[in-house]
Formats: sequence, structure tokens, C-alpha cells
Amino acid sequence: MSPSSPLRSHRFRDRRHTKYDFLDPILVVCPGCGGDARVVRVPHGPGHPLYPAVAPRRLICRACALSRAWNSGCMVFRRGSGGPARDPYFGAPLRLQTRTRHGLLWAYNFEHLELVERYVRASLRERAPRHETGSRKTLVASLPVWIKRGRNRDEVLRAVGRVRAASPNA
Ligand SMILES: [Zn+2]
Repeated sequence: MSPSSPLRSHRFRDRRHTKYDFLDPILVVCPGCGGDARVVRVPHGPGHPLYPAVAPRRLICRACALSRAWNSGCMVFRRGSGGPARDPYFGAPLRLQTRTRHGLLWAYNFEHLELVERYVRASLRERAPRHETGSRKTLVASLPVWIKRGRNRDEVLRAVGRVRAASPNA
């Protein structure tokens, strides 16, 4: 199939995105007031950590002026614990998440949510070549099996719509 094929909108090409590409910003529920907060990377100078993922972060809420700093270099990716999905720095619940009968659908931000949506919508999925991702699993490769199942497509897309509708201005 050529790149100009009319079918290309149904194709999802797994580019080199990993979860580490969607960590800035992370939309979270403010631990102070329950409003919309975000976790952002602090601009840094020389001597910053090698990986942007472990660069200093701040959790900022405009509604209540909460501001917290993270600089431990220790990220915790929680999964499968049964609770809400949380950000790996402060452990605040993600703003973009909803429960389905199969499990949690969640995203760090709208770009991440869109990637999941495009992946689920696509009927033809291509894996990223190994050399593009190194040893890291791409984000779509690490999606739960229930999200990848064709028969769950409509349900997953409805869940994406719910998440988006719940945070129109985040
Ligand atoms: Zn707040």
C-alpha cells in the first residue's frame, strides 16, 4: 500500500512513542482542591539528568495555587493495583481516566489520549521497527490486551469520548 493510498486513514503506524514521550504535561486531579492541576517539567540548566523523564517536575494548580516540587529521580509507574491511575511523580490521580468493565482507560494528556484513540480506531496496525524504539516497548505495544481487541473497539472509543467530555477544558 502506498503512502497516498486512500486507506491510510485506517492505518495506524506505531511510531517510536513510549510512555516516556507523554509525561509533559500530565493532567492530574489536584490533591489540594480536586480541581484541574498539571505536572510539568521544570526548565533546567546544565547538569540536568540525562533523561527528560527524570528531570525535576512541579505539580501546579491554578485554582488553589498549590505548587509541589519533585526532584527525587524516582518514578513509580503504578499499574494493576485496582485504584485510579496516577502520575508517576506525585502519585496524584490522572484527570483523564474512566473505568470500563474490562479495566481502566487512562491517559497522561490529550496527546496521549489521541494516540490511543487513533490506535483503537485503526483497522490496520503496524509495529514500529525495533531499531526505532531501542529496548523500550512502545506505548501502544504496552496497552492492555482488552484495549487492543477488535471486538472491544466501540466500547473503548466510547470510553475515550467519556474521558474527553469530562475534561473539556483541562
Ligand atoms: Zn488545587
